Amino acid sequence: MTEPADARARRAVAPVICYPTDTLPQPDLALFRAALDTARITDTVGAPPREACTFRVPAGQFFRIVSVDGPQVGDLNLWNAGDLSERFYSGKTRALHGTHVSTGDRLWSCFPHLRPMATIVADSLDWYGIDDFGGAVHDVIGTRCDPYTGNLLSGTQYHHCCHSNLTRALARATGLPLHTAEAQVHDVLNVFMCTGFTRDTGQYFMKASPVRPGDHLTLFAEIDLLGALSACPGGDCGAEHSSDTAPCFPLRVEVLTPEPGALDGWAPPARNGYDGSHGA
Ligand SMILES: [Zn+2]
Repeated sequence: MTEPADARARRAVAPVICYPTDTLPQPDLALFRAALDTARITDTVGAPPREACTFRVPAGQFFRIVSVDGPQVGDLNLWNAGDLSERFYSGKTRALHGTHVSTGDRLWSCFPHLRPMATIVADSLDWYGIDDFGGAVHDVIGTRCDPYTGNLLSGTQYHHCCHSNLTRALARATGLPLHTAEAQVHDVLNVFMCTGFTRDTGQYFMKASPVRPGDHLTLFAEIDLLGALSACPGGDCGAEHSSDTAPCFPLRVEVLTPEPGALDGWAPPARNGYDGSHGA
């Protein structure tokens, strides 16, 4: 189409932040960090390469996702441990905190709950920022690698995409039939994954993650959590995913329990206060 005469002026309109966060309830990071200082590791699980593990974290405890052996990206799902219908909502988390999350950001649950499930209290990659390509770390853009898109684009039958890994892990952890478990798997936090959108075509891109063994992302559980973490078949996601081609490494999840009394004054967040009537 031909540009209208005022195209320049229309493009020059300044953007407005959709969700200013100055009224968003803020976490007490100082309290959480002081509690973390008292915490000791009470459980450790591992996600082998191209597989997923599950873990449970009671409200008021911490979990830490750690890179071991080599650069590796992880796909994280979170559920309310007592109610799988309350799950992580990556889209709203992105709308509130931006395309990538780091220290102080929170992982929000789906409607009608919309409350913080977990708060990031430490991120060893928080120095990375936004690189010259527009890339950043810990992505809430990408959904998860899955066998359906692989089949759509390449006609493949690959079974170790994160979607399938998370499905098998949740089925194992809960005893749910595989396809019932699959329906509970949702869009992820791509831990350690470095992504962005190309400036010229607006396409989603990934690049080799800057994560190195010892790097970690540490989160405070705001409610009782069931988590699942897949060691993505893409490895550091520097080349391709949805295949066995990339070098792939395990990930470790540590659950950390603070000393009794370390969180005095803190209480789990209530479910969202909207009355649910929708005006009917
Ligand atoms: Zn993946």
